[in-house]
Amino acid sequence: MKDILQIENLTHTYGAGTPFRRNAVENLSFTVKQGEFLGIIGHTGSGKSTLIQHLNGLLKPTSGRVLLDGKDIWAEPKKIRDVRFRVGLVFQYPEYQLFEETVYKDIAFGPINMGKTGDELDRCVRETAKLVGLKSETLEKSPFELSGGQKRRVALAGVMAMEPEVLILDEPTAGLDPAGRENLMANIRDFHRNRGNTVILVSHSMDEVARNVDRILVLKSSHILMEGTPRQVFARAEELISAGLDVPEVTRVAMALRQRGLPIDPAVYTVEELREELVKLEKGGAVC
Ligand code: ADP
Ligand code: MG
Repeated sequence: MKDILQIENLTHTYGAGTPFRRNAVENLSFTVKQGEFLGIIGHTGSGKSTLIQHLNGLLKPTSGRVLLDGKDIWAEPKKIRDVRFRVGLVFQYPEYQLFEETVYKDIAFGPINMGKTGDELDRCVRETAKLVGLKSETLEKSPFELSGGQKRRVALAGVMAMEPEVLILDEPTAGLDPAGRENLMANIRDFHRNRGNTVILVSHSMDEVARNVDRILVLKSSHILMEGTPRQVFARAEELISAGLDVPEVTRVAMALRQRGLPIDPAVYTVEELREELVKLEKGGAVC
């Protein structure tokens, strides 16, 4: 698969020329493959939101480059609008950005800006609403009448309806209850599976990332601490914990069993894998 995004030596400085000068991201380099589901994880303040706002040109690098499909997104600053159509960003707490009088109009806003009209627009709005689990009768309601979880869905649909090649979600499940979280993640997984588009999920939950993504980027204090498949990253659980980061619950259980002397593979991070490891040990007589 080709690289859809290449981030080269990206640095972003806030407050340049003031005593509050600070590099929120520093010299970051990584690539994102077309069609992949990438997770970005790190503490509050580690630079996640700053990083992703560079990927659709909301922020301009202080130094370094962002390439979309091999082309520097700032090569022609007048065309940055096109980049924002191709790379869709859903902010944290996006429900505060709803403003139209009906849900339908809110979802249609982006596609209309892109030039969609008539039947094509109508089909796009209805299909996207369905994809995020909104019923057709909800489309005529005011977004302000909806519950928090429903509003979040409308905001997500508004960005998905632009059919971005890359969809970036900044902590999409923050503040939702566990059922709402799982529900929304299922919609995001469906979008990824059905459309085959690249998805970047920013999260502070290791469990959420572990269950959903192909590859993880771990940020710490403006830098990349680790990068790899969930298996590669969670195999370094001790390092993650000493960096103050969380690990999936299953990884914690596996670590505790290893500390008690059971030879469990450090890369285990799903319930199924842990069960298999324990069955293997039982057969070998290591578990009584
Ligand atoms: P995260 O999303 O991982 O919580 P952010 O990218 O929001 O991290 O923040 C990284 C660092 O940059 C933090 O120290 C934060 O206080 C600082 N920062 C973020 N946005 C701004 C801003 N607009 N002006 C000044 N500093 C900021
Ligand atoms: Mg953030």
